[in-house]
Amino acid sequence: MFNKVLVANRGEIAIRVMRACKELDVKSVAVYSEADKNSLFAKYADEAYYIGGPSPAESYLNIPHIMDAALESGAEAIHPGYGFLAENPQFGEECEKNGLKLIGPKGSVIRDMGSKIISRKLMEKAGVPVVPGTSRGVNDPDEAQEIAGAIGYPVIVKASAGGGGIGMRTVYEEDELLRALESTQSVAGSAFGDSTVFIEKYIEEPRHIEFQILADEQGQTIHVADRECSIQRRHQKLIEESPSPIMTPELRDQMGSAAVKAAASIGYSNAGTVEFLYSEGEFYFLEMNTRIQVEHPITEMVTGVDLVKEQLKIAAGQELNWRQEDIVVRGHAIECRINAEDPLTDFAPNPGKITGYRSPGGLGVRVDSGVYMNYTIPPYYDSMISKLIAWGNSRPEAINRMRRALSEYVILGVKTTIPFHQSMMLSPHFQEAKLHTHFVDEYKKEIMANMEKVIAEDRARVERLKSTFRPSKKVAAVSAAVNSYLAHSVAPKK
Ligand code: ADP
Repeated sequence: MFNKVLVANRGEIAIRVMRACKELDVKSVAVYSEADKNSLFAKYADEAYYIGGPSPAESYLNIPHIMDAALESGAEAIHPGYGFLAENPQFGEECEKNGLKLIGPKGSVIRDMGSKIISRKLMEKAGVPVVPGTSRGVNDPDEAQEIAGAIGYPVIVKASAGGGGIGMRTVYEEDELLRALESTQSVAGSAFGDSTVFIEKYIEEPRHIEFQILADEQGQTIHVADRECSIQRRHQKLIEESPSPIMTPELRDQMGSAAVKAAASIGYSNAGTVEFLYSEGEFYFLEMNTRIQVEHPITEMVTGVDLVKEQLKIAAGQELNWRQEDIVVRGHAIECRINAEDPLTDFAPNPGKITGYRSPGGLGVRVDSGVYMNYTIPPYYDSMISKLIAWGNSRPEAINRMRRALSEYVILGVKTTIPFHQSMMLSPHFQEAKLHTHFVDEYKKEIMANMEKVIAEDRARVERLKSTFRPSKKVAAVSAAVNSYLAHSVAPKK
């Protein structure tokens, strides 16, 4: 095992990785920006290095500064977390040049899976079903029309280098195609530096189901069950659960085997996720993420596998201790992403100072957070501040536990997505598990109404507490007497 690992990330995921290091007796090194001087993760680490200004380009994306910190600290490996440099093949190459182990798959695999077109091609070759569409770049409007016509509308124009839900446009009719092609190319060029786009069949109301993969460097690959991430907003996940409510042992075998085949066919090592769209009994490969995912804790809660510790062990050259038959799913886990956003005003970011903070607890509740009381959330990074995870023996128990945990979670000073999640847990459609990727849009009215109700109830509860916390007349008299005595006896002598 390594002696020292640098974590090239911030916030809750940096702490998550450092926790795994601590349990393995590995020293952790944080790197932090100007905006993160007072952050919890920099204090949690055994050592912390300042790497530059607040913008990601100056610090968390600044490869030379991160390399300097790694070399100066004597770290042997770097954990990239998710986002920032986690899927940047150049970062892997720089690590290699400097004799540092990047905790993740080989650079060439990161590069291939970073391209939706190349990954589609590789999956087709491996016999994994992909969404019907093209596996080459489409430039020319005539060619686009021909392809879209052959696939059949609706189609989706997608940036090959896209990520984070950016660079996708759904096209319902032929006369919208040209505009979609041009706009996706332009977004792709400016956001990802690569304007290549391709066309896929747009699957209406699919479920997003993904499989967690673990693969060691000796060639053993297993899946660590499934997660459903259909609750999204603008193609970005908001709530995830494991297992998928529609999962059966047969379907898990079928999709899990396809995921393992996908990973093994490209010589994958470390932790990764194979994402699928599922619709009417069919599933299609969407993409592979070559890093730890935000939603990994739900898998940990139902399987007991510490995925980050496994990442460290695999990178240190150890063989997987888990065989496929050891992976057993127990109960149900749900994760709510707690973002500093106002769900009542279209999820507008709401950074600022946290003036009151109390996190929930009790059986089956996990909070992965990067914040604390009096912490100021900087405006430079994404708005997720913590993740609340609830486990139950069954899905209904997990939902009720999540409701209870959300009601205990106090974050004052900034608006958060807690009321949105409370509203979702109350939704009968969510409870019935009739999930698909447009769920939030379809039930927007119901979700908004529930949200207003939840907020009003919370206000009423606070008012009630204020009045019932008034001391009784007798207690008030005694406390006034004590205060006057104390004021008198400890008053400074003139
Ligand atoms: P990104 O890399 O930006 O996260 P993905 O390819 O993983 O993009 O897709 C993200 C989400 O976009 C999916 O979960 C789904 O909701 C939607 N999506 C992507 N491709 C399709 C498709 N062909 N049909 C329907 N929805 C899609």
